[in-house]
Amino acid sequence: MNQEFDGQRAFRHIEYLSKTIGARVSGTPQEKQAADYVQNEFKSYGLKPVELDFDVDNDVTTAYQFEILEPALGEIPALPLAGSPDTPPEGLTGEVVFVEALQPPYVGPHIEGKIVILANDGLLGRELQPLLKFKPLALVHVGHTMGLDPNTFHVIMKETNHPYQLVPTFHITYDSAVKLWNAGVKRARLTLQTARGRGQSYAVYADVKGSLFPDEIVVIAGHMDSVPRDPGATDNAAGTATMLELARIFSQRGSFRTLRFAAWGSEEGGLVGSFKYVLELKKRHLQEKSSPDYIEGYSKTELEQHLLNINLDVLGMSIGHNAYNVVGPQAVKDYIHALTCEMGVRHICADGLYGSDHLSFANVGVPGVSFQREGVGTHYMHTAGDTIDLIDPRQLKVIGDLQDVLISRTAAQGYVWPFERSVPTFSPALQEQLVRRIRYAVKYLGMDPELAKQPGS
Ligand SMILES: [Zn+2]
Repeated sequence: MNQEFDGQRAFRHIEYLSKTIGARVSGTPQEKQAADYVQNEFKSYGLKPVELDFDVDNDVTTAYQFEILEPALGEIPALPLAGSPDTPPEGLTGEVVFVEALQPPYVGPHIEGKIVILANDGLLGRELQPLLKFKPLALVHVGHTMGLDPNTFHVIMKETNHPYQLVPTFHITYDSAVKLWNAGVKRARLTLQTARGRGQSYAVYADVKGSLFPDEIVVIAGHMDSVPRDPGATDNAAGTATMLELARIFSQRGSFRTLRFAAWGSEEGGLVGSFKYVLELKKRHLQEKSSPDYIEGYSKTELEQHLLNINLDVLGMSIGHNAYNVVGPQAVKDYIHALTCEMGVRHICADGLYGSDHLSFANVGVPGVSFQREGVGTHYMHTAGDTIDLIDPRQLKVIGDLQDVLISRTAAQGYVWPFERSVPTFSPALQEQLVRRIRYAVKYLGMDPELAKQPGS
C-alpha cells in the first residue's frame, strides 16, 4: 500500500466529515459520528483506538427572528450568536440605532434601551465592554463583506464580557445592513429562544507504539468539531484528515518513539477535548508522583513522557499562506524554519498565542507547535461558507509532506530527541490568557480546581 502522504485521501476524509456529516457541534450526534469515523479509520490501519468521553453544554436554538416594524419591512435574514442570552418568548421590541465605532461619541447614553446595529464586525469579545456599559436592549452585528455569511461564534464570550451583562445578539449580512440604512429603519423586534441541554463529547486517540523508545510520546492531533451551521471543512476537518493520513502512513512504516494520533471534540467551546485529555494525564501524574514507586529523576509519569504536541488546525485552503506557532523552546522554531526552507515550502513563524489545542498541552508543561493556513480563506471560518470548495488536495499534500519529514527526522527515526521539554514564560497578558483557559476548562469539566494550578504557583 502507498506509504506516502496522499492529498486525495486526505481530501476524501474532509469530504466525509464536512459534507456527509456536516456541522459537528460539540455534544451533538454529528460530533459523535466524526469520532466514530476517526476510530474506524484507526482500526482500518491496524491501530487500537481509545475514547475519552465527557459532558458538555448542548444548547439548541428553537426559534429566532429579526423583524423590522417601522417601516414594515418584515423579517430580515439573521442568525443568533452562539452563547447569546434569550429574549422573552414574545421578543424584545425597541428603537433601532446604528453604531459604527465603540468609542464616544458613537457609544453613549443615547443607545440605552435600544436595538444597536453594530457596523463593526469581528468585535465579539471583551472589546464590546464600552458598548455594553450603556445597556443596549439587543445587539445586531453586521458582516464585513458583501455576500458573506455572518460569523456567529465566539469562544467563551460569557466569561470575557464580565462584568457587563450580555444582551440578545444577532448577526445580519452587510447587504441587509445597507438595506436597513437606506430604508431609515426606526423600530424592530428580536426573538430568540434556546433549549439548554447537556450532551456528550469525545477525545479519541491511537498509538503507533515506539519500537526503541516506547516511553517517549509525540502527540499529533487536530480537533474534529465545528461551530453551529458550519461544515468546518478548513476548520478543522482538514486538520483531522491530515492527522488521519499521517496515522495511516506511520502505522505502516513504524516509529522509534510512540506517535499518538488524536482527534479532539469541543475545541470550539474552549479547547475542552484536549483539556480533558491533558487534565486526566495531570491527575494521574500527581497520583503517580506521590506513590512510593516513583523515583525522582528516574521514573517518568505518562505526562512526563510527552515530548511535543503537533497541532493541526485550519488547513487546506487553495489560497492562503502557511504559518506555525510554537509554544516551546526556540530550537523547535529554528528547526521547523530550517526544514521549510530546505523543502521549499513557504512558512511564516507567527508570534502570539494561536488559540488552539496545543495551548492545553502548554498548560501542563508539554511544548507544542500549531500549523495553520491563514489569509483571505479564513473569512469563511466559523460560517456556513467553510465548505470543501475552499480546499485543494495539493495544499494538503504540501502540509502532509512537511509533517511527514518533521515527524520522521525527529520522533520516528531520530536516535536522540532534539528538543528540550520546556514551555516559555510569556508576557503577563499572554500568561493570563493561558491561566484563564485552564481555569475555564477545569470548571467546565467539573474537575478538581487543584488541577488548574501552574507549576510553581
Ligand atoms: Zn479550529
